[in-house]
Amino acid sequence: MQVLILALEFDVRFIAHSLLSLGAAALISLFLASQHVSADESVLNSGDTQALHSLKAQALNSDLSYEILESLTTEVGARLAGTPADQKAIQWAVQKMKDLGFNKVWTEDVEIPAWDRGTLDVKISDPYQHTLTGLTLGGSVGTKGRALNAEVVEFVDLTALQAAEPGSIDGKIAYISNRMVRHIEGRGYGVAVPARGAGASIAASKGAKALIIRSIGTGDHRFAHTGGIKYADEVARIPAIAISNPDADLLSRVLTRGKTSVTLSSTAKRHDDKVRTTANVIGEITGSQAPDEIVAIGAHLDSWDVGTGAMDDGLGVAITMAAAAMIGQSEIAPKRTIRVILYGAEEIGFYGTKQYMIDHANSVDQHMIGAEWDFGLGRIFELRPGVGEQSLAAIQVLGRHLLDLGVLMGKGNDAQAQSDMSLLSKAGMPAVNFMPDGSRYFDYHHTENDTLDKIDPDDLKQNTAVYTVFAWFAAQSGVDFRR
Ligand SMILES: [Zn+2]
Repeated sequence: MQVLILALEFDVRFIAHSLLSLGAAALISLFLASQHVSADESVLNSGDTQALHSLKAQALNSDLSYEILESLTTEVGARLAGTPADQKAIQWAVQKMKDLGFNKVWTEDVEIPAWDRGTLDVKISDPYQHTLTGLTLGGSVGTKGRALNAEVVEFVDLTALQAAEPGSIDGKIAYISNRMVRHIEGRGYGVAVPARGAGASIAASKGAKALIIRSIGTGDHRFAHTGGIKYADEVARIPAIAISNPDADLLSRVLTRGKTSVTLSSTAKRHDDKVRTTANVIGEITGSQAPDEIVAIGAHLDSWDVGTGAMDDGLGVAITMAAAAMIGQSEIAPKRTIRVILYGAEEIGFYGTKQYMIDHANSVDQHMIGAEWDFGLGRIFELRPGVGEQSLAAIQVLGRHLLDLGVLMGKGNDAQAQSDMSLLSKAGMPAVNFMPDGSRYFDYHHTENDTLDKIDPDDLKQNTAVYTVFAWFAAQSGVDFRR
């Protein structure tokens, strides 16, 4: 996931929402509906409104999104971009969309750098031997399988490492120890994650031979969290690894007792002379009246090579595919085209979405509105719009159709689409963001523990109903969301 724009006033509204039972929400919804009938009908006619209600009921009773997710995580599993498993995922997605009745399904190639994780052994070697649970960070160099043994120097966060004098940690291992804070919107991620992305090159610029970080995650289990890094130009590339939270606690405690050394050995390898190919997979339910006007929903198809990418981002794949499929299989064809974009190579650096912006540079204006799913592991509690001022009233009509699902309208109107779709947002596509509960998301994110059992089928039905209602509403209302 990419860090979301966050609003401070949120907490008060969440508490209010928590106090609101679903029954009360339904009553309020009925009351509001009676107050807004005429205004609502000017946005969505009664036939389309009726169809919206039946699609919503269908989504709430359907196992389709769970079946899609079960299929992806069981038949494909982990799917690191550029690997044979990724190719299998692409074939899986094409076939699944065809089976679900999408009118058009195609792939668009994306070139990406080659990297192999290899193996990793990491342990405290002095003052005693203790194996640490670690993962090499994505894109990191290894040690060519040779043991790298060095004294560890702890930094309480990335800022402290940045403040170190060049040469002050020559030949040592820099260790960044701050812990990510848990938050329903995942706010702690944006604070903690620069240590992963930029830490290696900053450590190298101070003379370090390797970087160890406390995992960017909120769990108390012994699973390390991987994730991408970016080396700065003209700085030595050093191995970068993450260790689990309990291992990080231990390492910090051992360091309080005195001099501590760690040995690590990794066969991770970058192949900077090689290019691998992946693809964006795109499927459409073709619009009957305005086929060139696109309602975009999407997620990323790739995952890290640990776990089975159930949450990140199999969940998004399943929700968006099921939402479009249910609309495609309904009796009334949507007026606008509903396009599901399954981006390739998000995890290793947003390569799929960058290629999409090149391939579709001349048709950005045809993307009427978009929503991605790439964060969260629970029910959606809020709708945040980012549309033109005039069309905000129409989004409020959409909001009323989501109230009985427990979704409240967020304040403000400056939402950018999440993750991959943020590039379409920056290019002017209106967007909405649906905020799911992200409290537990970073317990499992990018770990071996991102597996199907973490997904609550009932929550998934609510998620799918929200995306189905949104896509139908955006396709049928004909609103110009840029205005
Ligand atoms: Zn993701």
